[in-house]
Amino acid sequence: MSSDTTPTPELDLWVEERHRDIVGARFKVLRTLFSGTSEYQKVDVVESAGFGKMLFNDGLAMVSERDEFVYHEMIAHVPLFTHPEPKRVLVIGGGDGGTVREVIKHPSVEHCHLVEIDEMVVNACREHIPLTSACLNDKKVQVTIGDGVKFVAETKEKFDLIIVDSTDPIGPAAPLFGKEFYQNVHSCLADGGIVVSQGESVYYEQEMQRSLLSILNNEFSITRLFNYSNLTYPGGLWSFVYASDKRCPLADFDESRVAASGIEFQYYNEYIHRAAFMLPEFQRKALGSTLKPLPK
Ligand code: SAM
Repeated sequence: MSSDTTPTPELDLWVEERHRDIVGARFKVLRTLFSGTSEYQKVDVVESAGFGKMLFNDGLAMVSERDEFVYHEMIAHVPLFTHPEPKRVLVIGGGDGGTVREVIKHPSVEHCHLVEIDEMVVNACREHIPLTSACLNDKKVQVTIGDGVKFVAETKEKFDLIIVDSTDPIGPAAPLFGKEFYQNVHSCLADGGIVVSQGESVYYEQEMQRSLLSILNNEFSITRLFNYSNLTYPGGLWSFVYASDKRCPLADFDESRVAASGIEFQYYNEYIHRAAFMLPEFQRKALGSTLKPLPK
């Protein structure tokens, strides 16, 4: 009897992220590194064919090694180069560590407190994605596993910068897009403090962007929205929202500090800092009166 010598075809495994059930992005998976279900969500880390290691929460791509630098540099350096001397920073969410990694590149930062609700995310990233998570062992960094909503409601600490590095507004992340949360964030900011938050997709989440800006407009005197372009998130063009009572990210931005810092960037620079606030016309129209005019 002759044995079958036909080679086994290589498995063709793909993970598909669906957005609003109208569009999907597919990533080719080489192998699964971690898969678990926490109290909050399903957490998967995979080795992908073209995007390096990727973190998925509930099937949604959070981080890819290929382009995580875009998101993490923009969420961190825009406010850190606007504030003249940021010392104390709070990061809510962001359990992969990428935002913290960028924050502690600033020598003025003495303390960076990460509050992530899901220990499984932190542990899976510590084990499998050191590119973003290695910084969590730095002595300036404090990691608390807990709900950011509760944290800002209860803490007596004050921060120069609060970064809300959250998932989409579902499950435990939903209140991170609400009025009460931002009232508490406001009370946790030191004089001249800044908050920057994950502001969702330019093409698909215009209602969410209007809602976030309205909440911030009621709380802060300066509010802005800025864009970044990436490969991993649906539609490519995504935003962050920015708010402060004192510091405008354009008028108060001293661009000479960027080169003087000696920090190596892959996406952020002094030109991108300014350009990110110049929004395309369809987006300006969609945001309407929730978008405040830029300084002349
Ligand atoms: N860059 C990412 C994006 O936009 O897809 C965000 C990544 S980061 C992994 C988001 C984290 O926020 C998740 O790990 C999630 O567990 C955490 N998170 C969600 N709700 C939270 C809450 N209420 N307090 C603290 N962390 C929360």
